[in-house]
Amino acid sequence: MIQEQGRAFVPCLFCCLIRHSRMNCCDRQSMAAKKTPHPVYADPEGNIYDEPGLLMLVRRGGEMSLPRPDEMIPLPETSDLFLLPGRNAAGLDPRTGKVEVIQGLALAGFASPGHTLSGTAAFVPEDNPPRLPLFAYGAVGFMDGRFWITATRVDQDQRQNFAGIPQSRITRRARELLQKSPQNRLMRHLAGCALNYCCPAARNLALGRFEAPLPVARACNAACIGCISLQPPDSGMPATQNRIDFSPSPREILEVMLEHCSRENRPILSFGQGCEGEPLTRAETIISAVKKGRQSVPGATININTNASLPEHVEELAGAGIDSIRVSLNSADQNFYREYFRPRDYSMENVRQSIAQARENSLFISLNLLFFPGATDTEYELDKLIDLVQAHKVDYIQMRNLNLDPDIYWDLARKRSLGPQVGLKNFMRRVRKECPWIGFGYFNPWLEKR
Ligand code: SF4
Repeated sequence: MIQEQGRAFVPCLFCCLIRHSRMNCCDRQSMAAKKTPHPVYADPEGNIYDEPGLLMLVRRGGEMSLPRPDEMIPLPETSDLFLLPGRNAAGLDPRTGKVEVIQGLALAGFASPGHTLSGTAAFVPEDNPPRLPLFAYGAVGFMDGRFWITATRVDQDQRQNFAGIPQSRITRRARELLQKSPQNRLMRHLAGCALNYCCPAARNLALGRFEAPLPVARACNAACIGCISLQPPDSGMPATQNRIDFSPSPREILEVMLEHCSRENRPILSFGQGCEGEPLTRAETIISAVKKGRQSVPGATININTNASLPEHVEELAGAGIDSIRVSLNSADQNFYREYFRPRDYSMENVRQSIAQARENSLFISLNLLFFPGATDTEYELDKLIDLVQAHKVDYIQMRNLNLDPDIYWDLARKRSLGPQVGLKNFMRRVRKECPWIGFGYFNPWLEKR
C-alpha cells in the first residue's frame, strides 16, 4: 500500500484523480532518475501499491523496456492517474531479467498539459480487454515516496494550470459573461463549458486570460479514429467533448473576440476547438467575423486550429486578419495520415497546399503533431516530418500526446516499416539539427506584432 503524507489513496474504478504536493528540487530529480522506479498496480477497490521487487517498464510501440535515465520526471502537479481495466501491471525482475506479470490492475499517467510522453504504460492485457477512453496513457512508477512518469516538459506556459484559482471565481466570471451577453449563443455555449465541463479554454475566456476558444463548426470532412468530439456509437470510446450543435453568426463570434481582448493584454483567439468539427468548413463566417473585428483587436493573435483540408480559403483568411494556422497531423506520410484521419474528400496533398498557402501569406505555421511513442519517434517518420518542415519552413511544432488506446494506434503503426525508434528527446534534437529555426511547444504562442 502506498502512503504519502498520511493520505491513503482510495481512487474510484477506472479513473482516479490524485493531486500531488508541489515538486521537489531538481537535484533530487537527477539523482532519482539514475535509479529506476518500481511498477505500480491497483487492487479491485482501487487501492494503489508499488512492487519493490521489480523495476518499472515502459512501452514504446510494441516493445517494453526499462525507462531511459533522462526521461523520468516526478508526476507533475494537476496530472491524473488512470486505472486500466482488463490489463495487468508488469515489471522487470532485475535478478532474472524477465518480465513479470503482476496480479493487479495496471496504471497510467495523464501528464498535465505542457508535457509530452516519451513512453506509454506497460501492461499485459487479459482476454478481450475493454477499449480505453480517449486519453494518453503515460508510463508511471513509484520511487522515493512519489510517482514518476516518462514525460518531458516542452512548454512552460501556464494557460492550462488553474492551481490556486478557486472554482468560485471561474463560476462567478462565467455567470457574468452570461449576464452580459444573454442573447449570444456562443457565449452561452462557452460559459456552459467553463461551468459544467471544466474546459480549460472556456475557463480562460471566463477568467479573461491567455487564449479564448471560438468553436464555429458542426461538421467535419474527416473521421479521425481518435476524434474527441464525435465517435461512432459502436467505437467503444465515448467522445470526451460534446460537438457544438449550432452555427455561431459572425456577430456572436465578434462579441466573444472583443470581450476577451478587452481583458487580456496578449490575447490569443483560436478557431478550431475540441468541441467542434473542421473550422475551414465555415471559412466564410470566420472571414466575415475577423474582417469586422481585426481593427478593434490589433494586438490579438488570431489563430485557426485545422486539418488544413481546404487550401482555397487560406489566402482570404490571411487577408481578413488571421495570423497563425495550426495544422493537425499524426504523420507526414500520406498513407499513415489517411489511415488515422480517414479524410472524406481531401488528401495529404491538400494539406500540403494549405501549408504552402499559409507560407505565401506570411502566416505563422504550427504543426499539431499527435505524438505516439514508438511510432512518431522513428527514423521513417522523422525523415518525413523534416521534409515537410523544410519544404514549407514551418515555424513551430506542438508536441501533443495522441489521446487514443495505445493498442488501437499500434495496430495501425505496426503495419508500417517505421525503422528504429530514436526516442522523444533525440527526435526533437534531430528535427532542430535539420531545421534550426524551428520552435517546440505545446500551446499556440502569442505573436508580438512588429
Ligand atoms: S479533424 Fe478534428 S473534428 Fe474532424 S474528425 Fe478529426 S479530430 Fe474530429
